[in-house]
Amino acid sequence: MHTIHLANNKKSLLQSTAAPLKKVRGAGRAGISKPPAPALPLGGVPSSVEVLEEAARAALRVSEMRCRRLFESARDGVLLLDPGTRKITDANPFMIELLGSTLEEFVGKELWEIGLLKDQHAGEEMFRVLRKKNFICYKELPLQSSTGRTREVEVEANLYQEGTHLVIQCNVRDITARKQVEQELFAAKDEISRQAAELRQKVAEHTAQLRQTIAEMESFSFSVSHDMSSPLSAMRGFAEILLQDHSTQLDADGIKYLEKIDVAANRLDTLIQEVLAYTMVLGGEVKIEAVDLDSLVRQVIETYPQLQTGQVEIQIEGALPKVMGTEVGLVQCLSNLLTNAVKFIVPGAKPRVKIRAQAMGADVRLWVEDNGIGIAPKDQVRIFQMFARIDHPTAYEGTGLGLTIVRKAVERMGGRMGVESEVGQGSKFWIQLKGVNL
Ligand code: ADP
Repeated sequence: MHTIHLANNKKSLLQSTAAPLKKVRGAGRAGISKPPAPALPLGGVPSSVEVLEEAARAALRVSEMRCRRLFESARDGVLLLDPGTRKITDANPFMIELLGSTLEEFVGKELWEIGLLKDQHAGEEMFRVLRKKNFICYKELPLQSSTGRTREVEVEANLYQEGTHLVIQCNVRDITARKQVEQELFAAKDEISRQAAELRQKVAEHTAQLRQTIAEMESFSFSVSHDMSSPLSAMRGFAEILLQDHSTQLDADGIKYLEKIDVAANRLDTLIQEVLAYTMVLGGEVKIEAVDLDSLVRQVIETYPQLQTGQVEIQIEGALPKVMGTEVGLVQCLSNLLTNAVKFIVPGAKPRVKIRAQAMGADVRLWVEDNGIGIAPKDQVRIFQMFARIDHPTAYEGTGLGLTIVRKAVERMGGRMGVESEVGQGSKFWIQLKGVNL
């Protein structure tokens, strides 16, 4: 038996039948030299059998050295055990480093005695499995070095036949760094999940609060508008009675003031109706279904005095298709777009309106085009905001709520809207909704 000198000056008890190995400079971790050249028998030429035998021995020595080199330089701990005694017979330098003790300190000990297995019983169990299956693997084992440093290791043990005897080889891999990274990853993942859950909870709470506030505001503006309607009707009614039945008792100023009251009351009435329309568009469940645009457009035109033939020219191009929406929402859209189309016109000009549908993939885009005053590009976004109006040289009646109602109604039907316009060139408003069977 030869003792191999290791790079760190510790000794390995690896058994070798080869010639003693010398430590040489620059020959790798274990410092193993090349084997010596085969010696010739004294005073004669070797026979061919001797030459073959010597060549075989040399090949064997080379192969053994390779194995030893692997053993010495491996970055996994390797322990060799005697299956008969269950005791450690050898260990490589990395294993010695891992345990932080000398080879002599643990050669002759059982695995449980160096802290690799929990107790003697665990050691017996390991050998029982090895005898049965020739292999056993432990994924995570704590290993305490002599300095008290705890490492996490993965152990793979195999039972091998080595010539006439059996040997157990345990490969011990230090997985401490990997486990630490894994733990940090788990912790980071947990933290992210916790923060995400917290965020979701906060968003849900804020959304619920917001919904409640919006619902309260909606019901408040609805009831205020609704409650203002009847006193306003009474005011308008009494002003009308005064004008009709008592105008002889009033002078010109009195009549002028009464007429102003009537105009103001009318304006307030329009505003109330539009606020009510807006709150109705916002609230309640929306049941989207197929709506026949063609008949709905004609009904809306019939309903509004300002849209009647004679005063205005309205052309419907072809038969309009069905779209997915709600009848209430579409009536709001059409009435606002059509009344605007005939309202924002150069004084004295005859309003001309064209209504047409355009297929856009699975959607339908409905266009309402007029020959009105047009809209400057800078105003084309803000006009869809609440109470937004454009200052014109000509005063046009209105509240600035009409297009807001259209936008909200279209959004609630899952669609979108827009405008193309140039000042003095008329406007083309469009709403786009899902088509039916397109
Ligand atoms: P209102 O009609 O009560 O003023 P809207 O919200 O319907 O309110 O419209 C907002 C503004 O957009 C209008 O005041 C007007 O300046 C402009 N507008 C809307 N429709 C047209 C149109 N067809 N042609 C020109 N300007 C328009």
